[in-house]
Parts: sequence; C-alpha cells; structure tokens
Amino acid sequence: MPDIVEMHLKLLFDLDNLISDMEDESYKKIGFQIEEAASDALINKRNQLLRQLPRELGEIYEILKKRYRQAIAPVESEFCLGCFQKLPTQLAAQSQNILTCPNCGRILYWRPKN
Ligand SMILES: [Zn+2]
Repeated sequence: MPDIVEMHLKLLFDLDNLISDMEDESYKKIGFQIEEAASDALINKRNQLLRQLPRELGEIYEILKKRYRQAIAPVESEFCLGCFQKLPTQLAAQSQNILTCPNCGRILYWRPKN
C-alpha cells in the first residue's frame, strides 16, 4: 500500500492500543490514571486519522477492530504474523496494493527488508 496510507494506518493502530490500554481495568487498578481531556484528545486524533484513510480501508479497519485486538498484521517471509498462515506467493507480488490476509482477514503490511 502507499507509504502515506501505511503510516496513517500504523499510527491509528498505535493510538488504538494506547486507548484500549487506558480503558483497561487492570491499568486503573494499579493507579494508572489519565485525565479525561487527554483521553478525549487521543480519541479525537484517532478519528481524524481514520478519516484520512481511504474510506474503504477505514471501514475494513473498524470491522476488524471489533473482531481482533490487532486489525493489522505485518508479513514476514510470506507469513501473516496475525494468524501465522503462509500467504499465497502471488499476494506478495502485489504488496503495493492494500491487501488483507485470505485466512484471518487482517490488513497486511510488508516490513521493509533489511
Ligand atoms: Zn492472517
């Protein structure tokens, strides 16, 4: 997928993790507190990022987020690291497009090769 889309998607993913951590009861129990205003600001930022994604991708992301904690998954050596299934070889050849895993449906992204 285009770099800018991937960047927005990863940022959105990080923000969602942060937000769900904040809402987690176990965090509250250990005295992790966050100002409501800060939490609102994060949610606003999150929704703003979501709007910057291509509409179709944003919709897929929201659906996946309800199903999995992780809506996006990196690909390594042709394996989806969301479900650890090997991906069809022809899929990797299209890594510039926005693709989802045929097995678990997560949005795939390719890590830069070192
Ligand atoms: Zn998968």
